[in-house]
Amino acid sequence: MSCEEYILASTVEEALAALASLRGEGRLIAGGTDLVLQLQHGERKARCLVDITRIPGLNEIRWQDSYIVIGAAVTFAQIERSALIRQRATVLAEAASWVGSPQIRNVGTLAGNIVNAQPAADGAIALLALDAEAEIANLTGRQWVALANLFVSPGVSRVDASSEMITAFRFRAHGPREASAFERLARRKALALPLINVGVRVMLDAEGVRMRDVRISIGPVAPMPFRAQQAEAVLKNRVIDQDTLTEAVEAAVLESKPRSSLLRAGKEYRRELIRVLTRRALLRAIEAARG
Ligand SMILES: Cc1cc2nc3c(=O)[nH]c(=O)nc-3n(C[C@H](O)[C@H](O)[C@H](O)COP(=O)(O)OP(=O)(O)OC[C@H]3O[C@@H](n4cnc5c(N)ncnc54)[C@H](O)[C@@H]3O)c2cc1C
Repeated sequence: MSCEEYILASTVEEALAALASLRGEGRLIAGGTDLVLQLQHGERKARCLVDITRIPGLNEIRWQDSYIVIGAAVTFAQIERSALIRQRATVLAEAASWVGSPQIRNVGTLAGNIVNAQPAADGAIALLALDAEAEIANLTGRQWVALANLFVSPGVSRVDASSEMITAFRFRAHGPREASAFERLARRKALALPLINVGVRVMLDAEGVRMRDVRISIGPVAPMPFRAQQAEAVLKNRVIDQDTLTEAVEAAVLESKPRSSLLRAGKEYRRELIRVLTRRALLRAIEAARG
C-alpha cells in the first residue's frame, strides 16, 4: 500500500476540502474493509486517505421528517443492534447481520458497501428493497439520489470518492401493515459470498388480504444490485394466495440472470435458490405485516 498521508476529517466540509486540494490523489476511507485490500492489491491508488469515521453526527441512526436516516459512518454492527432498524426496516437489520464476520461488521459501513458497488452487496440489496436514497455531498452542495441510480457496472458506482461523499441514507420506516425480510444462502455461514440474496418489502391493504405494493431485490443475478420489477408487478394489488406467490416467484426467476461460476455454483441451482428464497422472504414479510 503506497499511501503517504492519512487525514482524520472533523467535518464533511473539511473532508471535501481535503479531497479538492488533493486533486484526485485523495480518497475517502470509512471502515477500510474493501479499500485497504484494493490498495494493497494495486486495484486503487491514493496518495492520501481521508477518514470520515470521526465526523460528529455521521455515526448516528435517527428519525428525520418521517424518514429513518443512517449516517455514512454507521457500521453494520450498529445497524444489526438498532431496535429501530430491526422493527421498522427489518430487511436491513437482517442483511447487516449476514455481512462478513463480527470484525468486518464492527468497522464496515453501508456507504462503503454501496460505493464498492458489488452486485451481491448485502447492504445494497436491503436498501433497494427499502427504496432508499443517498445524500451525496460535494463542493457545490448536497442532494438526495435514489439508490437504484447509483450503480454503473460491477464495482463501479456514480459516487467519486476522490471528490464527493455519501453523507447519509434515508428511507421510509414500515408503517401499519408493512414489513420486510432478507434471505441469503452462502456456502457457509460467515465470511462467504452469497450464492443468492433476496430483500423484500411488502405493503398490505387494511384487511391484510391484498398486496398494496411490494419491492423485491435480488443479488447477484445481474451486473448490479437488481429489482425484480416483473415479479413486483405480478403481486401488486392482487389477493395474496399460493398461486399468486408462485406466479410472482416464477417471474422473478425468469427476469434474473444468474451465471454459473465455480465460486457461486451452477445457474440452475441458483435459479432454484431464487425461487425458494424469494418465496421464503415474501411469506415471512407478509406474516409480519399481518401482525
Ligand atoms: C473478509 C470480508 C468479508 C466480507 N463480507 C461481506 C459480506 O458478507 N457482504 C457484503 O456485502 N460485503 C462484504 N464485504 C465487503 C465490505 O466489508 C463491505 O463492502 C463494507 O460495507 C465496506 O465498507 P467500509 O466502510 O469498510 O468501506 P471502505 O473500505 O472504507 O470503502 C469502500 C469504498 O467506498 C468509498 N467510501 C467509503 N465511505 C464513503 C462515503 N461515505 N462516501 C463516498 N465514498 C465512500 C471508499 O473510498 C472506497 O472506494 C466483506 C469484506 C471482507 C474483507
